[in-house]
This record gives sequence, C-alpha cells and structure tokens, in this order.
Amino acid sequence: MMAQENAKVFVIAELGMRGTERVTLQLIGKARQLADEIDYGVGVILLGSDLADSEQELIEAGADLVLKGDAETLELYQAELYTAIIVKLVKEYQPEILLLGSTSMGRELAPLLAARLETGLTAHCIDLAINASGILEQRIPAYGGMITIICPIKRPQMATVAEGVFPNPVLDSSRTGNVIPIEIQDGISLRAHTLEIVREELMGISLESAQVIVAGGAGAGDVDGWREITELASVLNAGLGSTRPVVDAGWSDFDSMIGQSGKMVNPDVYIGVGISGDLQHMVGITGPKIMVAVNNDPKSHIFEQVDYGVVEDCRIFVPALVSALKDNKAKPD
Ligand SMILES: Cc1cc2nc3c(=O)[nH]c(=O)nc-3n(C[C@H](O)[C@H](O)[C@H](O)COP(=O)(O)OP(=O)(O)OC[C@H]3O[C@@H](n4cnc5c(N)ncnc54)[C@H](O)[C@@H]3O)c2cc1C
Repeated sequence: MMAQENAKVFVIAELGMRGTERVTLQLIGKARQLADEIDYGVGVILLGSDLADSEQELIEAGADLVLKGDAETLELYQAELYTAIIVKLVKEYQPEILLLGSTSMGRELAPLLAARLETGLTAHCIDLAINASGILEQRIPAYGGMITIICPIKRPQMATVAEGVFPNPVLDSSRTGNVIPIEIQDGISLRAHTLEIVREELMGISLESAQVIVAGGAGAGDVDGWREITELASVLNAGLGSTRPVVDAGWSDFDSMIGQSGKMVNPDVYIGVGISGDLQHMVGITGPKIMVAVNNDPKSHIFEQVDYGVVEDCRIFVPALVSALKDNKAKPD
C-alpha cells in the first residue's frame, strides 16, 4: 500500500502571519518518526484561504498526504467550522493518532474534537513514543515526576504539544506527497464568529530567542516584588519569564509562562527567582545552560536542579542586585 493511502498519523496544521507555524513542522517531524515505527504514513489537515502551495513545506517536513481545504470562509480560524470539517475528515480517514500544537487554536480545537470524536486527549505532552503494542505513549509531568498516558481503545489517540518540545525537522525538497483538495461544506451555522485575529505586540525580549532569562515565581510575594524581578530582567537585558501562580495572580500575562503548558525556552543563562522548581515549570527549560536560583528556603528542590543557588529573600536580594548592576553600568570603563 502506498504511504499516502496508509496515512494514519495526522497533524492539524496551523498557519500564522508568516506562514506555517513552527510547531506544525515540528509535529510533522515527530509524526514522521512515529509513523515510520508502525509502518504508517503521515497525513496533515491544512485549512485556510489563499493557500497557494503551502502544502509543499508540509510534505518536505514529512507529510505523505495533505488534505487541503482552501476557502474564503477559512481565512480566520473558526472553532465550530474547523471542528465540523476535521471531525468529518477524521471519520473518513480514520487516523490512529491526531496531533495538534498547544497554541491558542490547538488548546480550543483539541478538546472540541476529542469530545465530538468521543476519544481521549492528553494536553501539553512533553514527549510521545510508540510502545511495544503499537500504542501511543503520551508523556506529561505529574505527581512530581513523569507519567505516561495511553488511550488503548478509542481512536484517534489525541495529544497537544507546545512549540519547541520537538526539534524543527530537516526539510527535504525531494519528498513528494499526495494533496487532496477537500470540499468545504456550506451552511454550517456558527454560534460564534472570529472576526479578527490581533497579535499582541511583543514587549521586551522574546523568551524564545533570549540568551538570558530571569524568571519570577510566587516567591515574588506581590506585584511590587514582581516589579523588582521585572527590573532585574531589564537591567540584564534578559527575557522575562514566569510561573503559573504569577500568571494566575495577574502580575504577568500568559505569554511569559515557561513550562509544560507555557513556553519552551533554551537560554544560555536561566535565573529563577522565588520559584520552587516544580517539574511542570522546569521541563520548559531545555538545552545546555547555566542555571541560578534565588530562594529563601534552603530546602527548596530548585537548588537540586541548578548550578548556583542564592539562599536569600528575593525582596532583599533582587533590589540590591539591581542597584549593584546599575552602579556597575554607570562606572566609566
Ligand atoms: C497540568 C499542569 C500544568 C502546569 N503547567 C505549568 C507551566 O507550564 N508552568 C508553570 O510554571 N507551572 C505550571 N504548573 C504549575 C506547577 O505545578 C507549579 O505549581 C508552579 O510551577 C509553581 O510555581 P512557583 O514555583 O512560582 O510557586 P511555588 O511552588 O509556590 O514556589 C514559590 C517558591 O518561592 C519561594 N519563596 C517564597 N518567598 C520567597 C522570598 N521572599 N524570596 C525568595 N523565595 C521565596 C518558596 O520557598 C518557594 O520555593 C502546571 C500544573 C499542572 C497541574
């Protein structure tokens, strides 16, 4: 059987302002690896408008089959319309595995699809593998360690994964694939319409590209403590990261959250201030780097995970460090 007819590991593609989102290509790269292990092909569902030859990059990344819906009504992501189209395609093509990015779109779409398809979904996986029985192992941090979730009976096995969890695949321009245009059903009544997608302007240094990251946690204590950590990031020309309690408290926005359900980062230097070192946060920091922690509890488990530790109240230490760094900057060379 030709690989494209056998496509059973599917990825839902996502398009951004500048074309295919990186997470889509990373998922296709991983899907390729998983599919090879179980002798399947890789399928991608691509929805949008004015798509031209966008499928080419997906094929170069590892897709054998692209189901391409190109219509004006798909110009913006519409939850109900995308759900209806994808559910129909999944019922027709019967994929074993269905992967989506843990993006704003994926976070909404994946549970909608899982509910309609009456299957399981593991959100924010940080690894995927095929076990000896050919079942998808979906790994997430939980209960202070890593756990594996499987969906042994229902299909497809669904997972979401954040950008940066898997590497960018090497594009192979000699690959070929089958592109099937799909008819977009008319008359699907939508209760909610996306009218416009507005990207938030990036303030400061992007976490994904930052060489130095200062991340603050609940230990900041309050918004004033958070402001001090923000200032440290600014003086060091560093990206500003956070943990979930910081986002929940409203001191910083979701975009700054590092970890399993936030961003994956790869700085040279990571400075964690008032952070306990829980796995859900720490899995977001990848690659070789120098890690520093500031925490007032000498028993905090973050100290087991870093190269340098400062046992001190951050409300004392951070302003003192900021002041010393500023003084140092002000000194003539
Ligand atoms: C499914 C799931 C997904 C999750 N995803 C994420 C994620 O993506 N990212 C994320 O960050 N979290 C995530 N979490 C939450 C995560 O489990 C932790 O709860 C969170 O990371 C803890 O944040 P924290 O270290 O800031 O807070 P805490 O665990 O409350 O730690 C605060 C630390 O600050 C120290 N401290 C207190 N006062 C001071 C002071 N004055 N000076 C110095 N140190 C001080 C304390 O000793 C403590 O170690 C997730 C949880 C679940 C269940």
